[in-house]
Amino acid sequence: MSVATIAAPDALFASMLDIAADAIIVVSSSQHVLHFNQGAAQVFGYLPEEVVGRPLALLMPDRYRGAHSAHVEQFRKSPERARRMAERREIYGVRKDGTEFPAEASISRLETRHGPIYTVVLRDITERTLRERNERFLSEVGGLLGTSLDVGRTLQALASVPVPYLAEACIVDVVGADGAWQRQVSRSDVPELNAALLTVGQYTLSWDSPWRAIDAMRSQKAEVIGAITDDWLEGHTESTAELARWKALRARSALFLPLIARDHVLGALTLVRLNSAPFTAEQVKLAQALGTRAAYAMDNSRLYTIAQRATRAREDVLSVVSHDLGNPLAAIRLCAAALLEAPPSDVKEQRHLLQAIGNSADWMSKLIQDLLDVSTIEVGKLSVERRTEQVEPIIRQAVAMVGPQAQQRGVTLTANTGSAVPAVHGDAARLIQVLTNLLGNSLKYTERGGTVTVSASSNGDEVLLTVRDTGSGIPAEQLPRIFERYYTRKRGANKSGSGLGLSIARGIVEAHGGRIWVESVLGEGSSFFVALPAAR
Ligand code: ADP
Repeated sequence: MSVATIAAPDALFASMLDIAADAIIVVSSSQHVLHFNQGAAQVFGYLPEEVVGRPLALLMPDRYRGAHSAHVEQFRKSPERARRMAERREIYGVRKDGTEFPAEASISRLETRHGPIYTVVLRDITERTLRERNERFLSEVGGLLGTSLDVGRTLQALASVPVPYLAEACIVDVVGADGAWQRQVSRSDVPELNAALLTVGQYTLSWDSPWRAIDAMRSQKAEVIGAITDDWLEGHTESTAELARWKALRARSALFLPLIARDHVLGALTLVRLNSAPFTAEQVKLAQALGTRAAYAMDNSRLYTIAQRATRAREDVLSVVSHDLGNPLAAIRLCAAALLEAPPSDVKEQRHLLQAIGNSADWMSKLIQDLLDVSTIEVGKLSVERRTEQVEPIIRQAVAMVGPQAQQRGVTLTANTGSAVPAVHGDAARLIQVLTNLLGNSLKYTERGGTVTVSASSNGDEVLLTVRDTGSGIPAEQLPRIFERYYTRKRGANKSGSGLGLSIARGIVEAHGGRIWVESVLGEGSSFFVALPAAR
């Protein structure tokens, strides 16, 4: 049978079929193609003459051929004239190049004197299917990312959601408000891949890393690397160890996505493909939508942590205010009452009471200032006004401030500044505060007759300040905790400790990009070290 047989007003009929956007295929009762319109040619990639006369099976995947014939046979016998195919399952077509595509089709039957002929109207629904799948993916992602407000668990969810739909592996790098970087990697059921991922996960980024995630964060744009080669890896890793880790992962292409929420750049996702094709523009768009959701989930966790920390800080402040401010306040009340109600006749005793009021007031105002400092450090807002400063005057001023305390306690206080010590890039007033905190502690914990020494030396591109005492020393088990806020050995019995001094010192030093640490031997003394970047 030919097309002519079914198309009396041929030209009109054929042109009608050809302007249809859908694929329209007319097949004989023996399942051979009788007509193949322009739409079909476009969808399947065949010219009509390549298909007409050949079995319809040519256009469908092998696995459906048997079932399809059975369906057509069933349809032939049924009383209905038209039917939508694939009501219960997806159907697929095969293009000339062998690729499969999802389709939606309906079939109608026309009885002719030569037997039935069938018209299949078919639409390529690749895009729609993909859109639906992507939407399903994003809604699942939303659900997964919304399950926890804990930063660690959100990070884990972030690393796992793109796998395997968008990539075989995912690495999440985030940077906190304190400048600390964290990395989380996805897991894999393939042992070698999992092992490689774990080693990549041990590495943490910095703003100076050559890894492209940093470029994506700086430019706030997604970056696609279509073909990752060893050369590329060499140019984008920092050390031979890191290079070896990436080589072991065998990444073939990658997509770097910045995580941005509420104008904050929080980090980046690195999506890695090992075997599959490089990322298409469509997939980059989907990944970007994922990135936005991920960034907001991350930001919510971050804000939640900040809110929790603020609540805890407020509780801490309240407890310090109620305990530590309560004691000097009680002393002031007591002395004032004594002066009012039973003023001592002796002038010396009167002075003594007034002196006690003054000392308590000084202690209270120092404590209030410390609490304010700790709060500003806590929210990352400590302002340091840095300029090039000589170290010697900083040390001299700090020593002058604690001099009376040293004298009163009978402790020898000395200062050594080598002449070759370079200037620092810092805030002099804040650095004096660090030194007076350290010197004050050393004097507090050193017995009469002991010594406290402050010195400065040059150490590479850093300046090292040292405060050394011959005091009580610090028990080893306390060493890891003494820089914590409110950590003090003295609360309670002796009221001179609030546990804020060292945490403020650390906050100031870190705001300078420096480090502070301690070495101590119980019963022999302690040495506190402050390393600050030297001025260039
Ligand atoms: P505070 O001195 O108010 O208790 P800090 O934060 O200044 O708080 O110090 C925390 C703790 O570290 C102190 O309680 C003390 O136990 C210990 N410490 C600090 N400096 C010294 C020192 N030079 N010698 C011995 N212990 C020290």
